[in-house]
Amino acid sequence: MIQVEKIAFNRPYLRGKEKEYLLNAFEQESLQGDGYYTKKVSDFLQKNFAFSHVLMTTSGSHALELAVQTAGLGPGDEVIMPSFTFTSTANAVLNQGATPVFAELKSDTLNLDPTDLLAKITKRTKAVIPVHYGGIVCEMKKINAIAHEHNLIVIEDAAHALNSSYYGKAAGSLGDFGCFSFHASKNFCCGEGGALVINSQQPELWEKAEIIREKGTNRSQFLRGEIYKYSWISSGSSYLPADILMALLLGQLENKTRITYLREKIHKFYFTNLQEFLTGDLLQGMSFIPEGRSSNYHIFFLRVKNKRLRDYILQQLKEAGISATFHFQPLHASKMGAKLGYKAADLPLSNEAAQTLIRLPIYPDLTKSAQTYIISKLRDIFLNLQRAGA
Ligand SMILES: *Cc1c(COP(=O)(O)O)cnc(C)c1O
Repeated sequence: MIQVEKIAFNRPYLRGKEKEYLLNAFEQESLQGDGYYTKKVSDFLQKNFAFSHVLMTTSGSHALELAVQTAGLGPGDEVIMPSFTFTSTANAVLNQGATPVFAELKSDTLNLDPTDLLAKITKRTKAVIPVHYGGIVCEMKKINAIAHEHNLIVIEDAAHALNSSYYGKAAGSLGDFGCFSFHASKNFCCGEGGALVINSQQPELWEKAEIIREKGTNRSQFLRGEIYKYSWISSGSSYLPADILMALLLGQLENKTRITYLREKIHKFYFTNLQEFLTGDLLQGMSFIPEGRSSNYHIFFLRVKNKRLRDYILQQLKEAGISATFHFQPLHASKMGAKLGYKAADLPLSNEAAQTLIRLPIYPDLTKSAQTYIISKLRDIFLNLQRAGA
């Protein structure tokens, strides 16, 4: 089979009303934060996912920062999170002077291992940040039970997981806080953007987050006509996304069912076809949907036997014009991880998963012929390896 064009790893899918809403925001000169489209988007999220309170932010990183600040975490506090995550999960904690504590993952889903969470709890532990890897929600029943027992705040890093669920409840609605990203690489995007969901029913927390997000002022209350003038209340920052980006995002979100359906088809196609020739001796696992979960199909991954094999397969795919890729370097094993006192050997399962991981292209515009081509290339690579007794 001949595939001339290179197959991209990821592409946004802008086929809904994104352009119409963008132009409208432009024509209405609705540019600044908390305008017409920001309100539309937060209402949409609230309604569709039964979130109690939503604040749109400039990024997923900023949603995490806002959550950590609103939770009141600071110096002396430890926050447990998986090592296998994006730097933003840990930066949000570090930026407030609190200490990230890295825990192991489960080798099948690559999500936080509740057993290791429990093992890492000390007198100083104040919070946990489970990361819903690839759109599969963590074992939240166990994590929430541990958190409840030890009085920990739960901040979901749901950057991958909008439109995923866990026993019927939306990702981001399961902890005290949920953080989403609308970065261009995520399923629903506006270039750069995010959202903080506050599930706590304490209005003081909503207000606190609102004030931090509005440069430490109660301007949000003022704009709602609740107070007569606004003033400086606390420290804070500016986490308001431009309304013009929220216009784009509304188009994306309104198209969520179609976007998810198209991703699901690719996920299923990979899953079914790979079963045919991927056998236990070369393969350690691949993306699957555990019991009680629904996925937004953010990632499709494979895990092969070892790093050497993984690097070889990635190279072969690259030569065939297919942009497959690895993912996070475990944070504990990074330069910054060393500064925090970790040694690479501290979390062997996280290292192993990171070193053996391959992510395949998955996005609505990935054509059937491209999918078939990817499968056929992988089949060739694996059959050759098996023949060679690798
Ligand atoms: C993308 C991502 C973030 C941060 O999102 P940005 O919008 O890029 O700031 C945080 N955590 C995880 C796990 C992510 O993948």
